[in-house]
Amino acid sequence: MLVDSHCHLDFPELHSDLDGVLERMSANGVTHALTISTTLETFPAVRAVARAHANVWCSAGVHPDERRDAREVTEDELVAMARDPRVVAIGETGLDYYRVEGDTEWQRARFRTHIRAARRSAKPLVIHTRAAAEDTLRLMREEGADEAGGVMHCFTETWEVAQAAMALGFHISFSGIVTFKNAADLKEVAKRVPLERMLVETDSPYLAPVPHRGKPNQPAFVKHVAEEIARLRGIAVEAVARATTDNFFRLFRDARPA
Ligand SMILES: [Zn+2]
Ligand SMILES: [Zn+2]
Repeated sequence: MLVDSHCHLDFPELHSDLDGVLERMSANGVTHALTISTTLETFPAVRAVARAHANVWCSAGVHPDERRDAREVTEDELVAMARDPRVVAIGETGLDYYRVEGDTEWQRARFRTHIRAARRSAKPLVIHTRAAAEDTLRLMREEGADEAGGVMHCFTETWEVAQAAMALGFHISFSGIVTFKNAADLKEVAKRVPLERMLVETDSPYLAPVPHRGKPNQPAFVKHVAEEIARLRGIAVEAVARATTDNFFRLFRDARPA
């Protein structure tokens, strides 16, 4: 039993064959998934997937890179979105200085809005950080993100950043990147993060793990992430599956296994 803690089932690559995607997920022992919101515009479609499938929950949030929405999301709006029983998290939110040029103040303002909404809703945060670890941690501290808790998704940072996030009560989620040959540093982090703080995810349709690298990703492939972590730590894959599944349901406490 495995849970994909982060995927994008509303994206066309997955949504165009959603029944097939969910079937292959079950056939590979991936029992549940959290599908992640990225824009205001597409949130209803994300929520519709979670409403239609008892083993899928969703988040409410606007991705740090996203400029598609006509206007900026407000704290009240996120709190209202989070009231839906299928919404178990706020995000994905955070900072991404890699893909954004020029002024990034709007990203930090948006991130603060999400942290405040998560605290008010008592829902955990799904945090995305890229080329911005220092500011991400600083804003988490300044806004009291530890009160909401959550997960550093698709983690690619150093052990020091992992430790700082865990000190704020956060979980660390590994994606298919941990299976890549050139990810030696990340493999070391995956050996050191305590099992009780770890989650696994696909971030599908992106970042397909080895042996599917370069092809479209899907939640079923989260098993390759778990297998690689088990191999690195010299433990059974079942131990990784059990721990990450327990962690998922403890962290996203509004998600009740079907
Ligand atoms: Zn992300
Ligand atoms: Zn994502």
